[in-house]
Amino acid sequence: MKSWNSRPVPQLAGSMAALSLHETSSGAVRPLPVQDSASMYVCGITPYDATHIGHAATYVAFDLLNRAWRDAGQSVSYVQNVTDVDDPLLERAVRDGVDWRELAVEQTDLFRADMEALNVLAPEHYIGAVESIEWIVPQVERLVAAGLAYSVPGSDGEPSGDIYFSVEAASTPAAGGTHDGGSVAVGGTREGAAVAVRAADDGAWWLGQVSGLTPQEMLPVFAERGGDPDRAGKRNALDPLLWRVAREGEPCWSGATLGAGRPGWHIECTVIAQRFLPVPFTVQGGGSDLVFPHHEMGAGHAYALSGIEMARHYVHTGMVGLDGEKMSKSKGNLVLVSKLRAGGVDPVAIRLAILAHHYRSDWCWTDGVLAEAKERLLRWRQALVDTRPGSAAALVSGVRAALAADLDAPRALAVVDRWAAAQPASGTRPADRHSGLDSAVVTDALEALLGVVVQP
Ligand code: ZN
Repeated sequence: MKSWNSRPVPQLAGSMAALSLHETSSGAVRPLPVQDSASMYVCGITPYDATHIGHAATYVAFDLLNRAWRDAGQSVSYVQNVTDVDDPLLERAVRDGVDWRELAVEQTDLFRADMEALNVLAPEHYIGAVESIEWIVPQVERLVAAGLAYSVPGSDGEPSGDIYFSVEAASTPAAGGTHDGGSVAVGGTREGAAVAVRAADDGAWWLGQVSGLTPQEMLPVFAERGGDPDRAGKRNALDPLLWRVAREGEPCWSGATLGAGRPGWHIECTVIAQRFLPVPFTVQGGGSDLVFPHHEMGAGHAYALSGIEMARHYVHTGMVGLDGEKMSKSKGNLVLVSKLRAGGVDPVAIRLAILAHHYRSDWCWTDGVLAEAKERLLRWRQALVDTRPGSAAALVSGVRAALAADLDAPRALAVVDRWAAAQPASGTRPADRHSGLDSAVVTDALEALLGVVVQP
């Protein structure tokens, strides 16, 4: 699928130090592996509602990582998917009386335009669920053949033949604690899982490896986030769907021995990541609402298919609310980037409003947050008009140090604020002949490292 357009990244003298980043499964800030090339998969949108500020915050966070890696001299392979067929998309299309394909195309176009406006570097591969079905089918067949997936008989109006992943069969017994068939006891206790995290340097997977949740904690989250714990005929309530056989009125594709149908969400991301990235790849990213079940199950699928861990580092962003409330489609209180843009808000100010919050914190969008970002942008632009010679170097090293330490964007913004406050007030002195050099370095650094384009 067509990706979006990226502005070229300015090259800065010098480079960033080694990066440390919070890792979800260990719960600690850990150094990222130093490699010549870094690789990243960030889960994409389901295109039934345009980019809200929570999505935007996630993609801006991983854009900082992308830029930090590049500044550190590493090449970056970046892959993102778009779930262009799934239940929520189909339900929305039925509700609104539109063709699901048209809805997906329209909303994906809007997403691309939002990403361009926010100066998010485009992924190398932007892959749709529909175009990946032909790659997914043989992988699900392999899981069935290996005894790690199974077909569920029809019941309660559901047809026969849906394929589920067996979390118990796929969990590594040495790491995973108790298996007592049929219950949700896979993975043992939280204490057991913590011990196993330390033991599993070979990347072996068990249920709970990524999220650290116990099966009892997983059940309500699984039900809330698209899982079907009560589906009759499943071996374990937490087994996730791999292949949904054709239903009347739903789109379907050839599934070879699986029968016509469409893929589950977790296997979609797993297969796309394994096709386009090394195994393991460096960072699996997404919002914190993807830790379980999405990234947990994706890690399980990946290990079951390859015998190697999926990713080295699981990284998750906080949730963004609106005026103190959780932002959600069901509440209808989404702040859409496209609407802000249509209302004349400078997308650079939107990006700055996002960067004023650490990527891991939960925060709320308010009018005040946006007003502060607009003021900050104005101050930075004014400071660039007349810049003290020799002032750029400290800014560049300060921003680099902040980002290398778990992508601390608020600290990086404070560094730039201090620099801006130290510049002469606009027009109070004749322009120095060196001023332009520092101004150019700062302008390049703000774009290269923070993705903030300050030129009006
Ligand atoms: Zn995903």
